[in-house]
Amino acid sequence: MTDNHQVVVVPEDLCEALVSRADAFQAVEQVFAAMASGDARNFPVVREATGHAEALFGFKSGFDKAGMALGLKAGGFWPGNADKGLTNHQSTVFLFDPDTGRLQALVAGNYLTAVRTAASSSVSIRHLARPDAKVLGMVGAGHQAQFQLRAAAEQRAFEKVVAWNPHPDMLSKLEAVAREIGLPFEAVSQHELGAQAHVIITITSAFEPLLMRDWIKPGTHIACMGTDTKGKQEVDPELVAGARVFTDEVAQSVQLGETQHAVAQGLLAESDITPIGEVINKTHPGRQSDDEITLFDGTGVGLQDLAVAATAAKLAQQQGKAETVRL
Ligand code: NAD
Repeated sequence: MTDNHQVVVVPEDLCEALVSRADAFQAVEQVFAAMASGDARNFPVVREATGHAEALFGFKSGFDKAGMALGLKAGGFWPGNADKGLTNHQSTVFLFDPDTGRLQALVAGNYLTAVRTAASSSVSIRHLARPDAKVLGMVGAGHQAQFQLRAAAEQRAFEKVVAWNPHPDMLSKLEAVAREIGLPFEAVSQHELGAQAHVIITITSAFEPLLMRDWIKPGTHIACMGTDTKGKQEVDPELVAGARVFTDEVAQSVQLGETQHAVAQGLLAESDITPIGEVINKTHPGRQSDDEITLFDGTGVGLQDLAVAATAAKLAQQQGKAETVRL
């Protein structure tokens, strides 16, 4: 049987034009809430080395019954892309009709990955950081860091950005973003960053701790966003163990997120980690004193991708900007 079923196609430039930071924040906050209430579930992640072009390829998928988003993000990492003028991380989101299984939309995933990852740390800052936080600390200065900074800056009345990066030459791009949004910027040592910052975001590709427990002030909120693979690590396991710990998804956090090391070393139990959705849903109080350190392990789940892609597809249709193809 043939019919005229149309699939919505949303290219990169349209995603950028349509999905604002506020849209991404709302989509990610809602899906974290749905995950915590059992209305949304991530399916097992597939990630494999292809054996060609040194590429890693995989799928993140899931179903959000509250938002009626079913689908997957396919993509990965191609280290040789920079030489071709392309982003190393490449991804595309496929959305399916939850009632029929038919393909609904094909949505470019590169911009959306950055904006949904920034929304994730922002959700944690909104719900966990002290309201009087004034100094934002950035560890990392790559592609994602710029999105992280823009989004985080909207969550508190920050007066200054302090930053450290393993490759100091990369900091100038982050400084330009800080200046553009009207925040003074200071490149500092790791110690100094811990001494000054009230909120810290780590967004690097590190495989060893970049921040130690003793450097961090009481009351700080830390969003660890870079660790999304077994073996990666951004902070001292003692820092994780000494903090009140939240995450997007507990199973993924202990397996491939920042908590993997503290859990493996017996410093932290899986039961000590709270899904951030419980705080959003108000079934967990979140921060419990001005002095405690809160830590959010943002591992990055497929449902975040589906949530922002569904927003892009919806806005494209509402605004009459959707391209369609017959499939
Ligand atoms: P990028 O390549 O643009 O920047 C990499 C950053 O990590 C830079 O700050 C660089 O100085 C630093 N770095 C590189 N190698 C390092 C090493 N060996 N040790 C310490 N630091 C190192 O990458 P990006 O797109 O900004 O992504 C940063 C990280 O965030 C990546 O590890 C990526 O996998 C991760 N990420 C996580 C999510 C999530 O949802 N949690 C989403 C997207 C990306």
